[in-house]
Amino acid sequence: MISTAKLSSQELMQLEDVNGAHNYHPLPVVLSIGEGVYVWDAEGKKYYDFLSAYSAVNQGHCHPKIIDALVEQAKTLTLTSRAFYNDMLGPYEKYITDFFGYDKVLPINTGVEAVETALKLCRKWAYKVKGVPVNQAKIIFASANFHGRTLGVISASTDPDSTGGFGPYMPGYQIIPYNDLAALEEALQDPNVAGFIVEPIQGEAGVVVPDEGYLPGAYDLCKKHNALFIADEVQTGIARTGKLLACNYFEFKPDILILGKALSGGVFPVSAVLARDEIMLTILPGEHGSTFGGNPLACAVAMAALEVVREENLAENAMRLGEIFRSRMQKELVDKTDMVTLVRGKGLLNAIIINDTEDSKTAWNMCVKLAENGLLAKPTHGNIIRFAPPLVMTEEQLNECCDIIIQTIINFEE
Ligand code: PLP
Repeated sequence: MISTAKLSSQELMQLEDVNGAHNYHPLPVVLSIGEGVYVWDAEGKKYYDFLSAYSAVNQGHCHPKIIDALVEQAKTLTLTSRAFYNDMLGPYEKYITDFFGYDKVLPINTGVEAVETALKLCRKWAYKVKGVPVNQAKIIFASANFHGRTLGVISASTDPDSTGGFGPYMPGYQIIPYNDLAALEEALQDPNVAGFIVEPIQGEAGVVVPDEGYLPGAYDLCKKHNALFIADEVQTGIARTGKLLACNYFEFKPDILILGKALSGGVFPVSAVLARDEIMLTILPGEHGSTFGGNPLACAVAMAALEVVREENLAENAMRLGEIFRSRMQKELVDKTDMVTLVRGKGLLNAIIINDTEDSKTAWNMCVKLAENGLLAKPTHGNIIRFAPPLVMTEEQLNECCDIIIQTIINFEE
């Protein structure tokens, strides 16, 4: 093994550049330690983390309770595959279905695998329960969606970076504009529609919050036309938006709920699909699965991660701090300067829109400056910066971070 002890950030970046695929373009910061809301780079410089690994680290870096659960379970039993029962899966399944109020869970690993699982379930339900003729099922997606990177999922993407050079694409999809109930109603006229999959807030698109009536309206339309409403809460779920789920701002419960990221507190990939029996029991033994899905380590980690969310009131904290964040950005940037035109979001999933074009480098350059000033954030487009700190942040820390962001932007020069 290569010793990393004495390598500088420059050397470590060089190693990645030479030996790794170039499928990411990270900010030039090499992290080596994380604790709570902080991370440290290879030279020991301390930063506030304002990305939280795309909302996977809602519980804060290396949360002691989650790490203890990981270590204890790792010393006992890590993987059995689903060829056998294990003594962690049943208790976890009971825990998570009670936690979110569903009949059944299908445990899997990454977010995109959970999305694929939900899409497969939706098709099965369409054939077995709704009675759609064989191979005719259609799933509706919203434009500017981000559901992950598999072929099945990018086939529904409207982002040329996601799709370019990867065709041919999966049939049986229809893409309609986001936040457009009339378009959904029109698409639902086709009796072969199996379901509609949507992010309650579009994270990767730049924290796009739909109109207040959109999600409950879309749910009602799906009910009216006997189609499943599938909520992809991989990024918005688990307290990020100020409620346990972003859909909890409303009365309805999605037919299929997709979770990932913070389900493990960012420790390793754990994802889940939740649904009622009528949907979940359409998939039979041998029809879907994964070697690692539902492994004992994942079960222990996920239960600890969800307990932390509840015990530390992370949803309430996200709600309270999010209001302070947006209010300060509004008053001290949007109202006072020409640099920022809008702040939007819910809870601690927020973004600011920079007064520049989508293809500009301004948001990137501002993030480089923010890093120099001790705060890590990432642009989602040339003119949008997403701010999503761990939810264990205190009000004092949040205000210090707001000071850094405001000062950096006010003093920003290209
Ligand atoms: N769905 C949403 C809404 C996401 O934001 C993401 C990742 O950012 C995914 C799915 C894919 O998750 P993963 O990267 O774990 O496959």
